[in-house]
Amino acid sequence: MSVFQAPRGTYDLLPPDSATYLAVREAIAAPLRNSGYGYVETPGFENVELFARGVGESTDIVTKEMYAFETKGGDRLALRPEGTASVLRAALEASLHKQGVLPVKLWYSGSYYRYEKPQKGRYRHFSQVGAEAIGAEDPALDAELIILADQAYRSLGLRQFRILLNSLGDKECRPVYREKLQEFLRGLDLDEDTRRRVEINPLRVLDDKRPEVQRQLTGAPSLRESLCEACRAYHQEVRELLTEEGVSFTDDEKLVRGLDYYTRTTFEFVHDGLGSQSAVGGGGRYDGLSEMIGGPALPSVGWALGVDRTVLALEAEGVRLDLPAPTSVFAVPLGEQARRVLFGVVTQLRRKGVAADFAYGGRGLKGAMKVANRSGARYAIVAGERDLAEGIVQLKDMESGEQSPVPLSAVVTEIEARLS
Ligand code: AMP
Repeated sequence: MSVFQAPRGTYDLLPPDSATYLAVREAIAAPLRNSGYGYVETPGFENVELFARGVGESTDIVTKEMYAFETKGGDRLALRPEGTASVLRAALEASLHKQGVLPVKLWYSGSYYRYEKPQKGRYRHFSQVGAEAIGAEDPALDAELIILADQAYRSLGLRQFRILLNSLGDKECRPVYREKLQEFLRGLDLDEDTRRRVEINPLRVLDDKRPEVQRQLTGAPSLRESLCEACRAYHQEVRELLTEEGVSFTDDEKLVRGLDYYTRTTFEFVHDGLGSQSAVGGGGRYDGLSEMIGGPALPSVGWALGVDRTVLALEAEGVRLDLPAPTSVFAVPLGEQARRVLFGVVTQLRRKGVAADFAYGGRGLKGAMKVANRSGARYAIVAGERDLAEGIVQLKDMESGEQSPVPLSAVVTEIEARLS
């Protein structure tokens, strides 16, 4: 029988590369933890209706990309294609918005699923770290989230990313614009699919990447000019806050994003080294989503950054993260008695928090030293019967190659001292 393979559009994270993924998740989470965001975890699947209503019946995500299924018990579920609807659902269900001061600030990290055509940077299973600030309308909150994402990317050493920023208007000015835009789009020469989109979700047409569509869009009514006074002032305040904090961005009137729930502020982080799948993260304000899924009015804002694409962006920029070696000390016993003694030393080191590993499987000295080398350990402890008879072990500095005898009773403290 041949070996099974991972399903199409998925891949496995394996050592040593998996360490980079963990570090990226951690780097994105760190600024959030440091800014009042609490960790939230929701199930990998939800009622399919939550996404249909939340993300939008007319979006590609819901119509084409969702893994929806019926359980044996007859429940209609879907693997989560994104995080915001689930997090808001969880917050509403637990009445977090009634328990303290708003906004409720939450962050999350997990797997998401979309039945997309796989290509580099676009998978059917991918990872995001996200943040949501629920229940407050304040331009400083929008700015905070953008600044924290910028900080996360910078802390990883990324430089070739850009922030695209737009405002999509609110329930006052957006419908007026929508109609104006529809009228314009109906006069264009568009294929059937796009015509249908004009009727259901005309703003998405602005986002069409095809040159023949883009060409026709010159002269389309401007969303920016249709913003009501309140939206305009809000947007201006977000921009000023970002500028004051030294975060540069590009105004992009055409940025509409693929989800229906966005209002006012929307933004995307794009990386120039990634080819067609250039969005590494995105988000925005979703003031109407809570009501769309049966909750009270809770103006909110959030983002999700893609872990997979962030790792690709690091590769594209040639950034290598400075990750500590997973193992600091590697023990190589020679003989049965040494095996017992060094096993004890390794256990003691681990209990003290020193990353230590052991040559299992009764290898000879040469083979075991090879494993020690490959582990990246800074020190190797080698001991045979003669050493133990003298109450010592050999401590080898793997960088300089120097080896010196150390009393067995002192080896743990000696290593701790040398590593600190
Ligand atoms: P979205 O909710 O579509 O804006 O996604 C937010 C971020 O998640 C994107 O900027 C990507 O980094 C990542 N992402 C979305 N879909 C995929 C996918 N199919 N494969 C890999 N990453 C994805």
